[in-house]
Amino acid sequence: MENNQVHIELLRQIPAVNDLMQEKSIQQLITENGEQEIKKVINQVLNKVRQQILSRKLAKVNLPQIIEMISIQSHLDNRPSLRPVINGTGVILHTNLGRSLLSPAIKDYINQIMFSYSNLEYNLAAKKRGLRYHHIEKLLCELTGAEDALVVNNNAAAVMLTLDTLVPHKEVIVSRGELVEIGGSFRVPEIITKGGGTLREVGTTNKTHLRDYQAALTEQTGAILKVHTSNYRIIGFTEKPDPVELQSLAHQAGIPMINDLGSGLLLDLSKYGLPREPLIQEAVATSDIVTFSGDKLLGGPQAGVIAGKRQLIEQIKQNQLLRALRVDKMTLAALTATLQFYRNPAAALKEIPTLRMITLNTETLTQRANTLAARLAELSGIKVKIISGTSQIGGGSYPGYLLPTKLVCIKPLDNYSSTELERLLRTGTLPIITRLEQDQVIIDVRTLQGGDAQQITMKLKKLFNK
Ligand SMILES: *Cc1c(COP(=O)(O)O)cnc(C)c1O
Repeated sequence: MENNQVHIELLRQIPAVNDLMQEKSIQQLITENGEQEIKKVINQVLNKVRQQILSRKLAKVNLPQIIEMISIQSHLDNRPSLRPVINGTGVILHTNLGRSLLSPAIKDYINQIMFSYSNLEYNLAAKKRGLRYHHIEKLLCELTGAEDALVVNNNAAAVMLTLDTLVPHKEVIVSRGELVEIGGSFRVPEIITKGGGTLREVGTTNKTHLRDYQAALTEQTGAILKVHTSNYRIIGFTEKPDPVELQSLAHQAGIPMINDLGSGLLLDLSKYGLPREPLIQEAVATSDIVTFSGDKLLGGPQAGVIAGKRQLIEQIKQNQLLRALRVDKMTLAALTATLQFYRNPAAALKEIPTLRMITLNTETLTQRANTLAARLAELSGIKVKIISGTSQIGGGSYPGYLLPTKLVCIKPLDNYSSTELERLLRTGTLPIITRLEQDQVIIDVRTLQGGDAQQITMKLKKLFNK
């Protein structure tokens, strides 16, 4: 009975909504977020307090604490769902984590374009309307060797727009070894049929000869499509025709040779021990149209580039669909600034995070792992060690290829299980994405950015040094 009275008394002490709204810090929140919104948050918090009293979890009604709860709740409600995370997985082009990071060196330029008017579609010299694609054409042509180029939303869009323009209601010849599916249900056969074309498969999974293509050519053929098998590898008894011969076959038939490269690589990374991947320049030299991604190996923003013969690109530019696939000035600015690094390969390797992470040397990785492990070793409640392991490039590129790396392994001793620790790191204010392997939380230092090691240490300190 007495106990009940205590709770009734506590319930009575809960401040009124209107009184709370007069508080100075709440007034500030109202100015920032509007009265409606804050009223909603206050009611939410007061409900929570009421519940806590009723379930005997609250012994005192504390006004400053309630105000603090309202402030925190309003900030949580306002936080955008899309937010930065720390990538401790070692997967460089992690599609779920946003693929490529832009170079911090291009921040100023992107800011200028985003936060001011620009000559996006204005020809300053002629005082008339210009084309947004014009700003990047020259650079793309210079770097790839193409006669003309165009940028759209992503590579999937680039492929669709190309096929829709060049081969509507015609047959497209594709090798059975190249009928690729990219994540997110982008399937080459379906893209062809969606565009009103017909797929004409030739050869077998492991071998397709020039004569297979030749035999498939008819009046109905609209193009030969080559698809780079960027996310899988067929090894062993394999064969495909020489690209020069394939292009010349297409030309004899009076049709274009289209090449979907997927991951766009402008620099030969085999010097760094990576397997040889086709370069954009090589594909451009042996195809009439090449399509590739801006945010895979190229290391720029999400975009799709169509590069090739001027007359074909002109046709693609006339396609009504382009309006629906066009890129914003943010994309153009970020892609232009990223591409500019490629004029000097050494600068590209240093400034473009994707390339830098791919080509990190063992000393740097070891050093990073040592620094992080030393910081964490001071914490009680975890066991830390460094092991050798592998990173993936990801993003459906360099399939099956693993880069040697250093992993920091964290094993919680008693407070938490490894599974719980992984979840706590992943669900914090600044989420830290790790690998959970062999009952340990594993951080691959390859994909950590400046300041990440410090954030990881701070978070673990909070969890373990209470
Ligand atoms: C990744 C890829 C695509 C799709 O590119 P997005 O930029 O992700 O739209 C298409 N074709 C190939 C061969 C790819 O590797």
